Amino acid sequence: MNPNLIIDASYFAAAFLFIYGLKRMSSPVTARSGIQVAGLGMAVAIIASFLYFFNVSEEAKPHVVTNAILAAIALLIGLGWAWSSGKKVAMTAMPQMVAIYNGLGGGAAALIAAVELLGGHATGTIELVVTILGALIGSISFSGSVIAWAKLDGRINKTWRVKGQQLINGTVMLITLAIGAYIIFGAHGQAPTALVIAFFAGALVFGVLMTMPIGGADMPVVISLYNAFTGLAVGMEGFVLQNPALMIAGMVVGSAGTLLTLLMAKAMNRSVSNVIFSNFGVSGDEQQGEIKGSQKPADAGDAAINMRYASKVIIAPGYGLAVAQAQHKLYEFVKLLQDAGVEVKFAIHPVAGRMPGHMNVLLAEAGVPYDLIFDMEDINGEFKEADVAIVIGANDTVNPAARTNKSSPIYGMPILNVDQAKQVYVVKRGQGKGYSGVENELFFADNTNLVYGDAQKVMVSMIQAIKSLEGGH
Ligand code: NDP
Repeated sequence: MNPNLIIDASYFAAAFLFIYGLKRMSSPVTARSGIQVAGLGMAVAIIASFLYFFNVSEEAKPHVVTNAILAAIALLIGLGWAWSSGKKVAMTAMPQMVAIYNGLGGGAAALIAAVELLGGHATGTIELVVTILGALIGSISFSGSVIAWAKLDGRINKTWRVKGQQLINGTVMLITLAIGAYIIFGAHGQAPTALVIAFFAGALVFGVLMTMPIGGADMPVVISLYNAFTGLAVGMEGFVLQNPALMIAGMVVGSAGTLLTLLMAKAMNRSVSNVIFSNFGVSGDEQQGEIKGSQKPADAGDAAINMRYASKVIIAPGYGLAVAQAQHKLYEFVKLLQDAGVEVKFAIHPVAGRMPGHMNVLLAEAGVPYDLIFDMEDINGEFKEADVAIVIGANDTVNPAARTNKSSPIYGMPILNVDQAKQVYVVKRGQGKGYSGVENELFFADNTNLVYGDAQKVMVSMIQAIKSLEGGH
């Protein structure tokens, strides 16, 4: 059979599997199989790419054998690395892993462009424009994602800012664009190597400059933006290579990344440009008024017993649950409450945690059934009927100032209405602030008590309190 036909059919199958996999990722019930389906699509696309090696002329064969061996070695190194790092990554380290993998995708797209440009393969104007744009966007995504990874991983702690930052960034971008324009229209794709290298260097430096001033806490949005960039770059280089699988995969990643970036920004009531240019959370304290009331501590055991005798309890988890890895103990506690006849529900804010779906993944890992988990807009009306709302390691996502205090940096951000429950317990370690750096009015409210301690230790105490109560009966 004609290898070209097999390659085309395989690419079609791969594209179908990517899109079908993505569709399955839209619900937590089918998400795991969605990942597997998309992974299968990737395997099909990789195997199809190797079939190209069988489809060359006799005189090109020796050259192609070397390339096939090199590609196989690269594939094995990549597989080994991804397999071992994927197996041992902690849930809290997931955002930085996504950042680095995404950056590598952008880098791969840029490398394809480099081969095209340095080899003088791209010659037509449209082909050159697409190659240069893909190279630019892929390079920015690569270097920017590396900085995002380093910040999230705690390897870079400084938020580097200089006077005239925007001017410096703008100048670097202009010079890079000018070189790109010369490669296309002046040299018609036959530019000297030094100029092509200067073009890539400019794009890489721009990615670093753009990402360095952004605070580590805003990195998930930035990663999602770079994810969209990577998709776009891959799609463009797919066009240059006339490779349908790359084009479709790139478009799917590009549009999904764009939508996700917009959704995250909306859930924080901020624009994407505000995330990239505003230094959010740096001066949160200066911008808010004084909070009345005091923080009233409560004992974990007393809080647990109060919940045991409640009829409805709603749990609002946040980033601290992930830090403490308390999801298993939390679910154990929930089961004890359910056994005692209490109705328990989980309320999930769209940006609780540090990446979209963070809480859903944590709770799924602990085996919490999906029908106990509710999105913010579906459960917000129920808090006023709840006897107890328990906030575990969440802060900004439950701050009523977002509804009432116009001077607060988080004003306008949609929040979970936990303050409307009859009694609120907040589990946290101490006086630590949330991601935005602002104080939380909820902690000072009359109906709120704070249960201080690491979320996992607090859950263990709560479980013990219920068990000793049941044992005493
Ligand atoms: P926050 O980061 O606002 O607050 C986390 C809270 O958890 C803190 O008050 C901290 O207090 C507490 N905490 C930390 N470690 C522990 C522990 N081991 N045990 C108990 N408590 C702990 O979390 P939220 O989830 O409420 O909000 C998420 C924030 O992240 C939002 O502002 C959102 O906009 C932002 N964000 C989210 C993104 C996403 O995609 N999900 C993307 C970008 C930003 P203490 O130190 O006192 O314990």
